[in-house]
Amino acid sequence: MFVYLFEEGNTKLRNLLGGKGADLAEMTSLRLPVPPGITITTEACNFYSSNNGKFPEGLEKEILTKIKMVESKTGRAFGDAIRPLLVSVRSGAPISMPGMMDTVLNLGLNDNTIQGLIRLTSNERFVYDAYRRFIQMFGKVVLGLKGEKFESIITHHKESLNAESDLELDAKTLATIAQEFKRLVQEETEKEFPQNPIEQLRLAVAAVFESWNGHRAKVYREANKIPDTLGTAVNVQAMVFGNLGSDSGTGVCFTRNPSTGEAKLYGEFLVNAQGEDIVAGIRTPKPISELEREMPDVFKQLLDVCRILEHHFKDMQDVEFTVENGKLYILQTRSGKRTARAAVKIAVAMVREGLLSKEQAVLRVQPSHIEQLLHPQVDPSYEGHPIATGLPASPGAATGKVIFDTDEAHKLGSAGEAVILVREETTPEDIHGMIAAKGVLTSRGGMTSHAAVVARGMGKPAVVGCEQIKVDPVGQLFLTRRVSVKKNDIITVDGTTGQVLLGTVPTIAPRLSSDAQELLSWADSIRKLGVRANADTPEGTALAREFGAEGIGLCRTERMFNAQDRLPMVQEMILSVTDEERAQALEKLRPLQKEDFKAIFRTMNGLPVTIRLLDLPLHEFLPKYDDLIAEISALRANATASSSLASKERVLKKVITLTEHNPMLGHRGCRLALSHPEIYEMQVRAIFQAAIELKKERLEVHVEIMLPLVGEANEVRFLRERISNVAKAMIEVEGGQVDYKIGTMIEVPRAALTAGEIAQYADFFSFGTNDLTQATFAYSRDDAEAKFLKDYLDKKILPANPFEVLDRKGVGELMRIAVTEGRKVNPGLKVGICGEHGGEPSSVEFCHELGLNYVSCSPYRVPVARIVAAQAVVREIVTSEENK
Ligand code: PEP
Ligand code: MG
Repeated sequence: MFVYLFEEGNTKLRNLLGGKGADLAEMTSLRLPVPPGITITTEACNFYSSNNGKFPEGLEKEILTKIKMVESKTGRAFGDAIRPLLVSVRSGAPISMPGMMDTVLNLGLNDNTIQGLIRLTSNERFVYDAYRRFIQMFGKVVLGLKGEKFESIITHHKESLNAESDLELDAKTLATIAQEFKRLVQEETEKEFPQNPIEQLRLAVAAVFESWNGHRAKVYREANKIPDTLGTAVNVQAMVFGNLGSDSGTGVCFTRNPSTGEAKLYGEFLVNAQGEDIVAGIRTPKPISELEREMPDVFKQLLDVCRILEHHFKDMQDVEFTVENGKLYILQTRSGKRTARAAVKIAVAMVREGLLSKEQAVLRVQPSHIEQLLHPQVDPSYEGHPIATGLPASPGAATGKVIFDTDEAHKLGSAGEAVILVREETTPEDIHGMIAAKGVLTSRGGMTSHAAVVARGMGKPAVVGCEQIKVDPVGQLFLTRRVSVKKNDIITVDGTTGQVLLGTVPTIAPRLSSDAQELLSWADSIRKLGVRANADTPEGTALAREFGAEGIGLCRTERMFNAQDRLPMVQEMILSVTDEERAQALEKLRPLQKEDFKAIFRTMNGLPVTIRLLDLPLHEFLPKYDDLIAEISALRANATASSSLASKERVLKKVITLTEHNPMLGHRGCRLALSHPEIYEMQVRAIFQAAIELKKERLEVHVEIMLPLVGEANEVRFLRERISNVAKAMIEVEGGQVDYKIGTMIEVPRAALTAGEIAQYADFFSFGTNDLTQATFAYSRDDAEAKFLKDYLDKKILPANPFEVLDRKGVGELMRIAVTEGRKVNPGLKVGICGEHGGEPSSVEFCHELGLNYVSCSPYRVPVARIVAAQAVVREIVTSEENK
């Protein structure tokens, strides 16, 4: 079956009927006032796409049979000159893609049926207006004609009548415009405008199928990772009219505020208008609260419908409605796009209201929402004045160059420049520019206008409907009453407050709201994976703790060597000739490192801290070869500088000795420690000294010492023994107890493959998936992304950047082997991950599946990992229940 009546579908058929079709079906079953109609399935679309634009066999017949049923329900008929049926034809994919595909309204109008409609409505003006709109929309969407040609006909008539708006055009003029539109179609397509409604319908359905593969739909799918194979359904629904006069209207409302989450109806409506007028952001609509005054009965009914919908779908809904001569119709409902703040507030409130369980609430919030909660915001103490204020459509602050042209915004943004796309309004054609921009500013349109909805969906800061600015795209500037802002000037848009500010302004990381904290605490009680952070400064570790990290999973110690005040000591150590000299240089570093460790242990009081011993090769701490050569030749020219010349030459000699062809595969990590165990010994002394001193202050320290770049069990055996000896000696000398573990990173494929042997000497493993990915693919982690990975992704050789999303097939398989073999030998082995993947949602889910003990990621990603780890548990339960 390719065609379903609304009463034949339900929400489980979402993939087949698309989101809109499935929800229309549900609403029909709930007996809500939905105009009748049919849904043509995504399967039909997919057949059409893969068969060169052919309908599947029997589709047309099915459409006709079911349309007959719609006719009898409405008491109207296609092409009937007395009681004509008019329909809307709209796309509806399984995942909502607002505005990305095509829509045709008023289909069924022709020279004959307009007469019937005039009799039915007694409103000649309305009918001719509907007819000209239909020809215009059909011409643009289905026949592919340029919109401007139609616009110029209207403009011509307006000018000759001195009319300012379309509303001033009378029935006669609109009838003439319709005639001229038909003539335009005839001239442009060399065919008459199709008069047969069945023919109109066939063409419109094909056009919607085509729009699935249109440019903007493809760009949107790519940005939102929506598979191309889903296809769109087509909904054909009996028309109702919001433009029949002052007791008619159309509107969009959210059952709760999509920006703040407040549990209050939120939306906009326009009297005497059709739906497109609102969505396109052309006329600025009135707030929904005024509907209560203007049409109290309708408002009450709408509230009832919204309550029923929320209870049924157990989610905030985005509802499109039309009022035709005082009667309310619901045209669409879908789960509403919302800001991160609203998503969290709504999920938490719905648990309190008994609509959702805590588990369901945790699933309701997307990882990207949690990321957005931590978007920088304009520092509230900043005293600069806004140059304009608009609607706060999508929160967060964004700074960048003003760009008016969408293609240019796309080009510059994709090249890594920060741009703010400034438009009078955005349309679906602007999607690629919006994706590439850091933020969006428009001068027209409401909170439900296209720009607002799409920006919110992308989590992109946006200020819309900023009527205090006048955008001049030709002059490439915008004006406020006081200033003129030109292309390339820097502005900041604050989508939280709606303010537009000149230049770059100070931003701060926001704190998590109490709702967010509550939701995260539910996530904590559900998840099995631990969540730690990667941090190597007291500020970083304190932030990690604030965001809920349960420890530090990776404290890199490189910074403790290459900080400005340390570098001379490190260089002295590297250049030492005798062991004694080296020991002396290291002794100078020790107290400094001890203080570093103390500060970190202090902030993490009571929680484990994994300290990774030095990983970098020594040459990283010496000047660059080319710089040295330049300095030496300058010194040679100056005879008096002989002592500095000698020292530079000594450094140069060392640099040459340390030079390697493949430094990434070189003398670094535990390999360096094998040659110079005294470096790690110094670090271990500093660690234990710090721990012992803090214990004396009654702080609780749990140290985990981690070895980098291990590829062979004997490396761990050897270093473990050295480290343990130092640790024991320190504890003996200083007194007291220190809780410590010694473990290793698994970041070399051989380490994963021989994990069983390594586990004999390790208390824990931590996957260094940055290096492990590099070594598994043999892709340089420093170069691959800039050189060829983009090509690989464009050509779909790889599904995702493996440095971002963990490659389950290769790297993941190595991890699986390591976990299994390691735990066989050492059942108590703790296993974590500290590569960048530790904070990426799909990788975190994989770590849960592998049974790791924890993930470790940058502090800002800790809340994301907490939610995703809980979601992984809930999804597992849902799947196992479904499979029962
Ligand atoms: C890794 O390789 O994944 C890792 C965490 O270490 P680094 O990024 O410091 O090499
Ligand atoms: Mg590494």
